[in-house]
Amino acid sequence: MTAMNQTAQQIARELFETYDSYKFAEIQSCRITHAELLKWLRPLKDQPLLKKLPLGTSGEGRTVSLYTVGDGPVKVMLWSQMHGDEPTATMALLDIFNFFTVHQDHVVTKTIREKLTLLIIPMLNPDGAERFTRRTAQLVDINRDALALETPEARILRDVCNKYQPDYGFNLHDQDPRLTVGTTKKISAMALLAPPVDEAGTDTPVRARAKKVASLLAQLFALFIPGQIAKWDDTYEPRAFGDAIQSWGTSTVLVESGGWKGDPNKFFIRKLNCIALLSALYAIATGETAQADAGIYEQIPVNMKLACDRIIRNAVLQLNNQTAPLKVDIGINIDTRKNASADSLEQVATIVEIGDLRTFIALEEETDVQGAELDAARIILDQPFSVREIPMLLTQVAA
Ligand SMILES: [Zn+2]
Repeated sequence: MTAMNQTAQQIARELFETYDSYKFAEIQSCRITHAELLKWLRPLKDQPLLKKLPLGTSGEGRTVSLYTVGDGPVKVMLWSQMHGDEPTATMALLDIFNFFTVHQDHVVTKTIREKLTLLIIPMLNPDGAERFTRRTAQLVDINRDALALETPEARILRDVCNKYQPDYGFNLHDQDPRLTVGTTKKISAMALLAPPVDEAGTDTPVRARAKKVASLLAQLFALFIPGQIAKWDDTYEPRAFGDAIQSWGTSTVLVESGGWKGDPNKFFIRKLNCIALLSALYAIATGETAQADAGIYEQIPVNMKLACDRIIRNAVLQLNNQTAPLKVDIGINIDTRKNASADSLEQVATIVEIGDLRTFIALEEETDVQGAELDAARIILDQPFSVREIPMLLTQVAA
């Protein structure tokens, strides 16, 4: 890195301010289909800066393509939507493609194109994206297929790794939006992991380099969401692609987009993904990541599951005449699912916790009912019901 270069943090602040100038404006919802992605990328692929290479087809025959940018010596692979219902980074990649197109003379575009070769798979699981499901059309989780390689999608990813042997990898996902940063009572808006290569968590040179990239990313995210960055569970999972690709010699970072209050499409988190990824790529290109302090990554608190969408606090639950009343909190999650009868989406509530929830936070709303009695017949764990019936969990409302 020369004294001439701006730092990644300076770049990130600028990209945050100018985001509207390069944001991919056509995205209306996070539920992107394969057909939409192809339509949006078609005009971009005629630009000399973006090359498209078909890699193969999904289980149902949808094309999975690789988009390359730049022809520099350092190869960086980014892959998104291995899980079909995790599209936040896919939207960010569209923003990044658009940035390169709109800002061709920007120092970020020029430096990345000169020093790096970007290898980008924006949608590895198009069949899952079509259904908005984690798994493929053949019901397999690609991220547990890195060793068996039964699915065509897993073989596509492995083949790209074999062919290009990338120096760096970014494994882009969405996590459960109800995770917290340790016990801090803050939502985990982003989580990072330099996946292990063995049970012992050995720091091979490849993984040590990934930790530096993760540290730099954590600092970039902290500019905008301080205290809301967590570390993903680092249990070794040899069947997962992050762990496998790290062991194959590519310094890999898992980037998990979390929740953000009042933003169901996660457009704010998408913006942060775009800015942090672009800035991190720039930092790899300038050599800044080599100076990053891996200790910053090591100190990030781990993800914990201490959040619900709604919490009813200080209620009284007496299940029947044979048992005594208890003071309890009730944790409820709200999910969107396909209505079985009509082809539409509906919101369902599920009681996921009963008991002392003082360490929990509510994403949407919490109410202190000050000793009000619960309708025991309606207090059933893990059984979905209509959100309209939530007030009826309390007897005086139901009466
Ligand atoms: Zn995932």
